[in-house]
Amino acid sequence: MQDHVDWTTPIAVRPVPAILDEAVARFAGRPAIDFLGRHTTYAELGRLVDRAARGFQQLGVRKGVKVGLCLPNTPCFVICYYAILKAGGTVVNYNPLYVERELRHQLEDSGTTIMVTLDIKQIYPKVAAMLDSSCLERIVLCRMADFLPSVQGLLFSVLRRSQVAHVPDDLRHVPFPRLLANDGRLQPVPIDPTADLAVLQYTGGTTGRPKAAMLTHGNITANTDQLYRWMPDGRAGEERMLCVLPLFHVFAMTVAMNVGLCYGAELILLPRFELKQVLKCIAKKRPTLFPGVPTIYTAINGAAEQEACDLSSIRYCISGGAPLPLEVRSRFEQLAGCKVVEGYGLSEASPVVTCNPFGRVKDGSVGLPLPGTAVEIRSPLDPAQLLGRGEKGEICVRGPQVMSGYWQRPEETAQVFAAGALRTGDIGYLDEDGYLYLVDRIKDVIISGGYNIYPRVIEEALYQHPAVAEAVVIGVADPYRGQVPKAFVRLRPAMASTVEELHGFLSGYVSRIELPKYIEFRDELPKTLIGKLSKKELVAEELARSGATLHKAS
Ligand code: AMP
Repeated sequence: MQDHVDWTTPIAVRPVPAILDEAVARFAGRPAIDFLGRHTTYAELGRLVDRAARGFQQLGVRKGVKVGLCLPNTPCFVICYYAILKAGGTVVNYNPLYVERELRHQLEDSGTTIMVTLDIKQIYPKVAAMLDSSCLERIVLCRMADFLPSVQGLLFSVLRRSQVAHVPDDLRHVPFPRLLANDGRLQPVPIDPTADLAVLQYTGGTTGRPKAAMLTHGNITANTDQLYRWMPDGRAGEERMLCVLPLFHVFAMTVAMNVGLCYGAELILLPRFELKQVLKCIAKKRPTLFPGVPTIYTAINGAAEQEACDLSSIRYCISGGAPLPLEVRSRFEQLAGCKVVEGYGLSEASPVVTCNPFGRVKDGSVGLPLPGTAVEIRSPLDPAQLLGRGEKGEICVRGPQVMSGYWQRPEETAQVFAAGALRTGDIGYLDEDGYLYLVDRIKDVIISGGYNIYPRVIEEALYQHPAVAEAVVIGVADPYRGQVPKAFVRLRPAMASTVEELHGFLSGYVSRIELPKYIEFRDELPKTLIGKLSKKELVAEELARSGATLHKAS
């Protein structure tokens, strides 16, 4: 495959709603959303967004007002996202599975005054609890039944009544249909793409303390344009984008929703990852584009070993967020007859920084910087010092997608930039062709007897073992070495291994110092909401039970 990427045209930096307006104008009669069988065309989506935008303006939304979206993937998310931005406001993305404490922190920190949420018991009561005790003034309430096809909607309201929350009828609650009850003639708001904030995206960053990356309209549209160029032979108005990653996560927001709209694609929205439902949906709705994370592709590969799965509609996949083992990529490509490429990014960069070009993939690499993006490797000890090709150091990024800073955190903002470049907190190196390789995250590095051990090196070695399905390595306290590596492993179904056998296997791949001192088998490994293997629960467990007996590898 030839290099199809346009590297030279300046990157489009514009207001985010321009993406929607352009799609509505170009693809009016084409399907924009499929939600569990209910279809919305681009023309309908455009009208709904305008009415919701006017509704938000009537509620006082203008520049500077923060409106939260605490929603799973539903049409309501897509409509309100563009409507808030059209009204001039800023979107604050919330994970609907947050516990009250996390919700409150994010609400107070961002100054969210209006929250859009769903009337189900799992979500609504947590949000409602904030009404009297935080800066939250109003809740815009969407009903699940409103978005389903009519028969299903009726069934949902009858059968799932027990899951629907009781919502008081008062001025602080605005039912979604009331938000839309207007003529859609909104007050146009002039947007300065390089200055006006579109999204506050919360992230642990490198210090772990949740804070919001300030993403401007320009940051988000730039990243959308960079990725739009990445896809070869996109067929305007013909693509179908599987949106199973949550849209409140920055990867899906940009790659699935915004890039999807640039293609005039139909967004197939699934409210959560449920393997059987995803497989059925792929076979029936025949998506052509499927952005995902490695655990999703791994799960599908596993299912395909048990029963036949029709994945033949899929053409292109971009995987990000966590390392994509080579064997997972090749197996998925083989099963679906598609191309899967791995990219790399972070919330602070809207999020994508690098990606392997379709057709020019280098195994083990997260690819080339996107058009208009520069990746620099700097010394982690002295970020003023630039390192050369092949040298390992902190990955730093410049580009139009890089955030302007952390919301109300001037000190952390100052620390996260080195000579104007974003410090990612990830360690990596560039090869002679400019491909980026990740070595590890600064905070995950294990320091053992004065040596730096990169858990990822050990994890990759574990993945070479045929019985290993998933592996995570963390540092645990050790009286002699300070820290030593410990591996947590989930084996494939019906496969066996032992601590001693794995240990023996690993000695062929990693140095003595990198050999995990402990190996523990688990039936499940903790994951983040978007399905990345998560270390923090394991680190916390280890701290809590540091006295407990471990399976020590001799
Ligand atoms: P977040 O901002 O929460 O999306 O997390 C971003 C972090 O995810 C990055 O700083 C990396 O540590 C990690 N990450 C992203 N893409 C990859 C990838 N392809 N391989 C390994 N780690 C990744």
